[in-house]
Amino acid sequence: MTTRRQILKKSILLTAAGLFSTTKLIGSAHAADAKSSELAPPPDLFDSQALDIDFWVKPRTIDLIRPASNERSKLLYWKDGEIIDSAYQELCHILRDVNGKQSAAIDPKLFETLWATQAYVARFGMTKPLEILSGYRTPDSNRRLIEQGVPAARKSLHMDGKAADIRIPHLHEEVLGSLITSFREGGVGFYYRASANGGWIHTDTGLQRSWKG
Ligand SMILES: [Zn+2]
Repeated sequence: MTTRRQILKKSILLTAAGLFSTTKLIGSAHAADAKSSELAPPPDLFDSQALDIDFWVKPRTIDLIRPASNERSKLLYWKDGEIIDSAYQELCHILRDVNGKQSAAIDPKLFETLWATQAYVARFGMTKPLEILSGYRTPDSNRRLIEQGVPAARKSLHMDGKAADIRIPHLHEEVLGSLITSFREGGVGFYYRASANGGWIHTDTGLQRSWKG
C-alpha cells in the first residue's frame, strides 16, 4: 500500500526531475543530485487554507491547455475583484464541448478553483499549463460517454457548465485532488488510472463532497 507521503514524495521528485531536464542552466550532474537527495515535501502542500489574503486579491492569470483540440490559452482573466469579460469568453470557449461543438456559460467559481489550483502549485515550481480533459458537455455528449462506459453521471454538472476534468503534468492525482479538496469549493472526484499519463481529477462547483471513480 502506497502511503500518501510516498505518493507526494514521488510527485515532488518527478516534478523536480522534469524541471531540471527543461532548465538549461542546471547540468545533468545536478539533476542526478536532485533525484537522489531527500526532498522534503512542503508541509502545507495540501492545505490551501493557510493561504494569505494576498494570494486571493492579486490579478489572476490562468494557463489552460485542451489536448482534445490542441489549444492553449494563457490569459489574465481577473483583476480588481472582477472577471474580465473578453478573457471569460475565451475561457468558456476552451472549456466547450469539443465533440458536440457547443460552448456554454461556465460558472466563474470553477475558473477560480482552476486558477487557485494552478497558482498554488506554481509556488512549488510546477508551472505547466493545466490540462482540461473535459469541460462543458451537451446532454447528447454526456449520454454518449455513459453508453461508451466512460464514468459520467446522468445528471452531470458538466452539463451545467459547473465541472471540469483536469490533470497537471507530473502531479499525481492524489496530490492534485487533495489540494482541490482543501479549497472547499465543491465536489472532487478522484479517477486513478495506471496509464502513462495517470488519472484525472473531476472538480465541480456543486456541493462539497468527494469520491473515487
Ligand atoms: Zn467530470
